[in-house]
Amino acid sequence: MPDTDHPRVASLYVHVPFCARKCEYCAFYSEAARGEVVADYVVALVRELELVAADLQPRTVFFGGGTPSLLTLQQWEQILLAVQRLDLLGAGEWTVECNPATVSAEKARLLRAHGVNRVSLGVQSLDGALLDRLGRVHTREQVFKSFDLLRQAGFANLNVDLMFGIPGQTMARWRETLGEALALGSEHLSCYEVIYEEDTPLFEQLRAGQFDVDEDLACAMYEELVERAAAAGFQQYEVANFARPTRRGTEAPAEAEEVTPGGPRSNPSAQPAAIPALACQHNVNYWRGGAFYGLGPSATSYVRGVRTKNWSNTGLYCEQLACGSRPVESREALAPLSRAGETAAFGLRLVAGWPFEEFQRATRFDLRAHWRGEMERLVEKGWGHWAPDRFRLTRQGLRFADAAAELFLR
Ligand code: SF4
Repeated sequence: MPDTDHPRVASLYVHVPFCARKCEYCAFYSEAARGEVVADYVVALVRELELVAADLQPRTVFFGGGTPSLLTLQQWEQILLAVQRLDLLGAGEWTVECNPATVSAEKARLLRAHGVNRVSLGVQSLDGALLDRLGRVHTREQVFKSFDLLRQAGFANLNVDLMFGIPGQTMARWRETLGEALALGSEHLSCYEVIYEEDTPLFEQLRAGQFDVDEDLACAMYEELVERAAAAGFQQYEVANFARPTRRGTEAPAEAEEVTPGGPRSNPSAQPAAIPALACQHNVNYWRGGAFYGLGPSATSYVRGVRTKNWSNTGLYCEQLACGSRPVESREALAPLSRAGETAAFGLRLVAGWPFEEFQRATRFDLRAHWRGEMERLVEKGWGHWAPDRFRLTRQGLRFADAAAELFLR
């Protein structure tokens, strides 16, 4: 039910928990798509949308997974019509994650016609052997083909997801993939280092000594990425995220807040620039500690200081919704200081760091009063920069953002 004292929640995430097959490194909740289960999921998802719609006025929507593009045209129609019927249209940014193997011209046109205006393409690599090594179902040719299909369907805002530090990936192969990915001309680029999550085949192979992790090489790949992305006209605005500063065909700079790259090759006290216009606004909301509803199995919501998590079990998810209740496995009301600590930690992933006033508005805590010692320690290490109006990580600090952010948790 809407809370009349609070504005409606402006951010919606939907988890689609199906994949053609499981990638070697993946720890997200997803399962192999089986016709009946997928059909039940779509019905349940529409029910869950109905339960929260009155408290939602989405400015950003993100369908992730899993592989949302695995849903059939008919299943997409069911979902899109429900979104329309529940008056949830009108988001300025609506992203759907797609696997290059499951993009068709019809699906792309259908999504675009119903208000989806951004696609995130899970490319990961453009090297055939490394795609096999990761267990991806798509080929490099499918990447180029699906990118063209999406453009033809009218998508003017495309993200390309890449991975580096893949076992067997040399610097030369990384450079090649980077060059080809940048040449695609997407508006956004997300690049993550491979992480070894427990219970994944890649983790087991590492534990069994089948390969070693070369941290120095991964660092060099990250440096290469930052340099090449900048040279190609991207602006880094988060540890792993880069976006164009202007929309296609316009010279208009972004509005929004300020961002500046830090680090050894840039002046740490340089004047901040704006968050790029084509940054992923949905993720910026996470990093700024904003509220969001997460629907679908395993999805997390964060609404008015309460975090809830849905069951990571599609059968149970469907059963509970069939009985008319939200499929929530856990609920946690965070203490205000813990919440502020998390918000501090997330926001430091942004190149802009935290403007002190904005942090205070968002959390009611003063970063300088409650985390002074932590910030001083980061400055001593060369990982942080304390400006008169804000605290942010340097380029070196951004490389170790997870470790730096941990200091802020309470
Ligand atoms: S496609 Fe994405 S969600 Fe599915 S298994 Fe691979 S990495 Fe995981």
